[in-house]
Amino acid sequence: MKLGLFGGTFDPVHRGHLDVARAAQRAIGLDDLWWLPAPAPPHRTRPQVSAYHRFAMVALAIQDEPRMIVSDFEMAGPGPTYTSDTLARLRADGRSPGSLFFITGADAFRDIPQWKNYPRLLDAAHFMVVSRPGAPVAALRDQLPDLASRMVDDPHDARAEPRIVPVDAPTANVSSTEIRQAVAAGGGLESLVPPSVATYIDRHRLYALSVPNSKGTA
Ligand code: ATP
Ligand code: MG
Repeated sequence: MKLGLFGGTFDPVHRGHLDVARAAQRAIGLDDLWWLPAPAPPHRTRPQVSAYHRFAMVALAIQDEPRMIVSDFEMAGPGPTYTSDTLARLRADGRSPGSLFFITGADAFRDIPQWKNYPRLLDAAHFMVVSRPGAPVAALRDQLPDLASRMVDDPHDARAEPRIVPVDAPTANVSSTEIRQAVAAGGGLESLVPPSVATYIDRHRLYALSVPNSKGTA
């Protein structure tokens, strides 16, 4: 049983995220893939919209994707969540590190030395690192020389022992930052997010700077 875990802010989810999830699913033949929207990520500024809206948008984006679900696993507690704690909880639930595949884009993975419990968290799951425009996985061995010995070229080398699995797949050149800016500027989202997500953003007036959110901030 191979379980993929895709964490992110998803503020909002976009086509690049879908490309990443599908590429990881294909590369390793995942049985299930959980998307894990983060409540208030430790390493970055606050998300612009609530975790409820970000969760709802992921649910819409993946409604036709077989074997993908959106999970509130990281959203139950009050504080920020750390990947290391999430993996420890799954371990306590009886999942072995060899059965877990944590998915990130290559830009996010480059910062892994700053993550909580580095380098021990690398023993808690396989890490599938998918290329992003401007962040090719081919550069990872040079960027993270201490981790080069854990990287495997063939995804199927990722057996019992946790490995880093670079996945060189094309992903859309899109970012959530660009989408937030496009909405604030009154631009269209058609090529950036699935139609269901574009409709949701429009209907709930998300990312339109003049409309306050539930915290009373723009
Ligand atoms: P922001 O601009 O707000 O940082 P983002 O587009 O980078 O948003 P995140 O929620 O920060 O999206 O990213 C979640 C995960 O998805 C990260 O691991 C990130 O590397 C990955 N990711 C996001 N967009 C892409 C993309 N276009 N190609 C490959 N990976 C991506
Ligand atoms: Mg990002």
